[in-house]
Amino acid sequence: MPELIPLYSIKIICCNCEHEFSTSRVRPSLKKAIRRDADFCSYYKNENPDYYVVRVCPSCGFASTENSADKLADWQRKSFSDQVGKRWISRDFGEKRDWEAALETYKLALICAQSIKDKDRIIASLLHHIAWMYRYKGDTAQEQRFLRYSLDMYVKVFENDGIGGNDARLMYLIGELYRRISDFGNAVKWFSRLINDQKIMDAAMIRAAREQWAILREQMQGDGVSPDGLPSTT
Ligand SMILES: [Zn+2]
Repeated sequence: MPELIPLYSIKIICCNCEHEFSTSRVRPSLKKAIRRDADFCSYYKNENPDYYVVRVCPSCGFASTENSADKLADWQRKSFSDQVGKRWISRDFGEKRDWEAALETYKLALICAQSIKDKDRIIASLLHHIAWMYRYKGDTAQEQRFLRYSLDMYVKVFENDGIGGNDARLMYLIGELYRRISDFGNAVKWFSRLINDQKIMDAAMIRAAREQWAILREQMQGDGVSPDGLPSTT
């Protein structure tokens, strides 16, 4: 049997210039992750579907994801054009992407989202994806830098959106990102907030928070910090 080609192509209408272009996707049957980190960064045997999340219009350079708006408002078009579009040199990201190309699409999506003042939740997620890209490469300094940016944005989302639909996941993620940047005090605060909130019914997220809190306790003991966040006296 011939081996299945992992990528297929779909057509997108650009939400900025309305140009139609192709972008690649990984076949759903090949999307199964072989491993996943506690902050949902996933690893794949073959092609990484995360490399294909961003769709880049070759004509105007506008980069978006499935979660972006269908159409931009006039002020957003102008803002994008002033900040990004007028410097765009036509490039096509529609075919297979390597790590460098995938990272470039995420950075482009980030500056596009910032130029049109997209939702904080979308910007937080792009920053988090950029951190994962550096994690895949083992570049810890850049990974930590982007984890901090995304964490700040997730906290902002939580503070502005208040208690809403997907809060348990957001609270868990904030706790886990604090743990990953070694801010153990804040990690404990967010995990315990999630576990002790009587209104939260998301059993999977509560379990995940308990598991990561246990790992955190071990980390803190290893670092000479007691489990309740105070410096060890021994
Ligand atoms: Zn376009």
